[in-house]
Amino acid sequence: MEFKKDNFSEWYNEIVETSQLSDKRYPVKGMNVWMPYGLKIMQLIDRIIRDEVDRRGFSEVQLPLLITRNQLAVEFEHLKGFEGQVYWVTRGGLEPLEVEAALRPTSESAMYPMFSLWIRSHADLPFKLYQIVNTYRYETKHTRSFLRVREIHFFEAHTAHVDYEDAERQISEYLEIMKSIAGRLGLNYLLDKRPDWDKFPGAVYTVAADALMPGGRTLQIGTFHNYGENFSKNYDITYETESGTRNYVSQTTYGMSERLLGAIIGIHGDDKGLILPPEIAPVQVVIIPIPSAKTDVNGTAAKIAKTLQDSGLRVKIDDRDAYTPGFKYNHWEMMGVPLRLEIGEKEVDGNFITAARRGISGRVKMHAQDIFPEVREQLDEVQKKIMEKSVQFHNDHLSSISETYEVNKDGNAYSVFWCGSKECSDRFEEMTEASCLGLRVGSKKKGKCIICGKDGHEAVFSRTY
Ligand code: ZN
Repeated sequence: MEFKKDNFSEWYNEIVETSQLSDKRYPVKGMNVWMPYGLKIMQLIDRIIRDEVDRRGFSEVQLPLLITRNQLAVEFEHLKGFEGQVYWVTRGGLEPLEVEAALRPTSESAMYPMFSLWIRSHADLPFKLYQIVNTYRYETKHTRSFLRVREIHFFEAHTAHVDYEDAERQISEYLEIMKSIAGRLGLNYLLDKRPDWDKFPGAVYTVAADALMPGGRTLQIGTFHNYGENFSKNYDITYETESGTRNYVSQTTYGMSERLLGAIIGIHGDDKGLILPPEIAPVQVVIIPIPSAKTDVNGTAAKIAKTLQDSGLRVKIDDRDAYTPGFKYNHWEMMGVPLRLEIGEKEVDGNFITAARRGISGRVKMHAQDIFPEVREQLDEVQKKIMEKSVQFHNDHLSSISETYEVNKDGNAYSVFWCGSKECSDRFEEMTEASCLGLRVGSKKKGKCIICGKDGHEAVFSRTY
C-alpha cells in the first residue's frame, strides 16, 4: 500500500504535523500556528514573490488591518460578495465603535480611498503596489492547514492604469510572473477564466491558476482580476490626462497565498515526507558525520559545512550523539532536505563525500576538494527531478472526455467542451461533483457541449478545495 496515493488526505495531515510546519491545536478554529520550519519555507516563498514583482516595478506597501463598513460599502457588489465571510470589530475597549470595522478580507476597500488621494496625473501611471499581509475570512467549509484557513497569509498586487488596454497588458505581466514563480517552485497549473457567476466580486473578469492536487481535486493557487473602471468610479480614482481632462483609472489585482505551500507539500511529497525545491528549503544541505573511533569525521564535516555556507548555502550538521545515522537519514528525508552528505571514515580517508539526493534514488560520490560546484549541480538535479515529476503528474491527471460517465472519483481535472451556460455547468456538477473552473485560457479548441450538444469551447471541470 502506498500511503500518499491511497489516502492523500490523511497523508497530508500527517506530513504537516510530523514535519512541524503548522500546529492546528491553537484554540481559534481555522487559525493555526506557523511553526518555525513552516514559517521559514513560507518566507523563502515570499522572497521569490518579492524578487519577481520588485524587478517588474512594483513597490511594497502596508495598509492597516481594519477597514470601516463605510469603506467596504463603497463598491456594493464587493461588500455583498464578502459580507458573509467578514470578521467585524464592533467595540474599542468598552465603547461601541461609531462605525464598525472589518478585519480585511482583501484590501481593495482599504487601498482605493488612498489611491484616490495618491494618483493625480497620467505621469503617476501605471501605479503598481503590493503587500504581503494576513487577511481574514470566516470560512464555513472544513478548514485544513495551508489549503483553507481563516487567517490567510496573503500576497496582493494592485495596479492602476491609463486605460483598459494597459490594464490588459498588466494581466499578461501577471501571467508571466506566475509562470516564473511556479517554475521556481516546481509547480504546474491550468489557467482558467472563471465563469461570470464565480468571478471576484466587482471584477470585469477573473482568471485563475489551478493546480492539480493528488486526491482528485484542484487547488486555486493564484488569481488575476481585471476591474476595468468598476472600482475607480466608486472610489473616485481619477487622473489628469495629457490634454488636461480627468479620466478614471483602470485597475487590476493579483492574489496568492500560503496555498502555494499547500501545493508544494501535496504535489512534491512522497511516503517518506516532504520534498522541497532547493530554493525554498530552510536546510539545503544536511551533513551527517558517521561516528568513527580513529578518524576526525566531525572536523571534516565542519570544514565542508563552512565552505558551503561561505558559498551562500543553508547548511546543517546533524552531530547529535543520541541518534543513529539511519534515524537521521529518515528524519531529514521527512523534512524534505534536498541533499544529504555522509562523512565517515572511508570518506575522510579517500578524500571524497557520499551524497544522497531527495527524490532521486542511488548515491553519488563527490570530491571533497572544491565541493561547492558539485553540490550546486546536484541541487539543480533535485530541482529538475521535482519539475519532471510535477509535469508528469499534471499531464497524467488532466483528461479530455466527451461523456460525463468518464468522470471517476480517482480522476482530477477534466477538459470538456462546454457551451458556457450555467444550466449545463450545474447539470455537469450534479452528475459528477466536478464544478466548472471556466474556459481554458489560450485554448482555441471548439466542439459540441458535453451536456446540451450546442457549440462550445474547451473548459475545465474539477472538484476543488
Ligand atoms: Zn451546453
